[in-house]
Amino acid sequence: MTRSESIIAATEAVSAQNYAPLPVVITRGEGVWVWDAEGRRYLDCISAYSSLNQGHRHPRIIAALIEQASRLTLTSRAVHNDQLGPFLERLCELCGSDMALPMNTGAEAVETAIKLSRKWAYRRKGVPPDHAEIIVCRNNFHGRTTTLAGISTEPRYRADFGPYGPGFRCIEFGDIEQLRRAITPCTAAFLVEPIQAEAGIRMPPSGYLREARHSCRENEVLFALDEIQTGLGRTGRLFAHEHEAGAEPDLLILGKALGGGVYPVSAVIGRRSIMDVLEPGEHGSTFGGNPLAAAVARAALDVLVTEQLSERAARHGDYLRRQLGTLGPAVREIRGRGLLLGIEITPAAGTARAICEQLLVRGVLAKDTHEQVIRIAPPLVIGETELDWLATQLSAVLG
Ligand code: PLP
Repeated sequence: MTRSESIIAATEAVSAQNYAPLPVVITRGEGVWVWDAEGRRYLDCISAYSSLNQGHRHPRIIAALIEQASRLTLTSRAVHNDQLGPFLERLCELCGSDMALPMNTGAEAVETAIKLSRKWAYRRKGVPPDHAEIIVCRNNFHGRTTTLAGISTEPRYRADFGPYGPGFRCIEFGDIEQLRRAITPCTAAFLVEPIQAEAGIRMPPSGYLREARHSCRENEVLFALDEIQTGLGRTGRLFAHEHEAGAEPDLLILGKALGGGVYPVSAVIGRRSIMDVLEPGEHGSTFGGNPLAAAVARAALDVLVTEQLSERAARHGDYLRRQLGTLGPAVREIRGRGLLLGIEITPAAGTARAICEQLLVRGVLAKDTHEQVIRIAPPLVIGETELDWLATQLSAVLG
């Protein structure tokens, strides 16, 4: 048995089987590269589902972690700490908004946005008690809590975890007419991803987000964008909604790369007139907004800005697409934006999982999303030499 095999066996003996990991054991990471237990090197094109936009162990983020960890790590929000204010100030400035509410995981941030939307609907819009509705889209992915499993349309995510509560309406992603018809006087919010990443990098028609926001505005409905995966540079802009003028959200939901690949940090950002519906005691989290998280997240944001990672993602995403333009008939479509790419393969080419296993042998970590789509999402710090090498490996498997 190799060292990797024995680690996998020991782990699987005691770990619930809620994932089907690729058969590789990662023991070290730096920048865009990771190494397994035998010392083999891989280009990380999973990036912990877009949480490693700044790369593995970015020196400035690790320095912020160590510096803060040597002074103060956790206080809870029962008292103030000196790191939360500067982090949220920077976050609001980058988002062009007034206030933010820090959480830890993406799912918690989405839950927070749902609570904010409902309370706003009752207190500001005048929706009768317990009648607020939130519109969501088919094939969404917003997280794994019971409420979020309940709004999923994917049988694997929702079956056997019910019963689920009322209060949501589901429409087709990308269909603006369905959104217009679904809005009622009780609609609190439209919750949507700018690109449905987990569903296989599904893009809405051009203009959809702008028109959706417009419909929300006309009907006094909050436009809540889940940019947990698309935000923070991944698509070639700081936020994916910036690809369309006039698509700014009322509530912006961030997570993943907000923690710089180091620490779980998420947040909901919005105008004061929405955020101030919450009063002390109505919502919270023991770890949300802790000083270590705040210091790490501020450094993560600084790295995104100073290293111009959004611009890099745009440039390198275009470059990679040009390199992949010559892939063979196994490829049905390449879609996405910036460095969030989905390669859809034909059924004749096999499953995406099988392709990912072939890529693994060639030193590329990539993950299937659904049967036929391979997601390519390397850290945004990737360079052209590494992209050329990646294109060579993809061509060898799909060419
Ligand atoms: N929303 C989107 C768009 C996501 O991609 C994810 C995670 O993949 C989540 C929410 C949930 O985030 P977390 O796994 O941190 O709870």
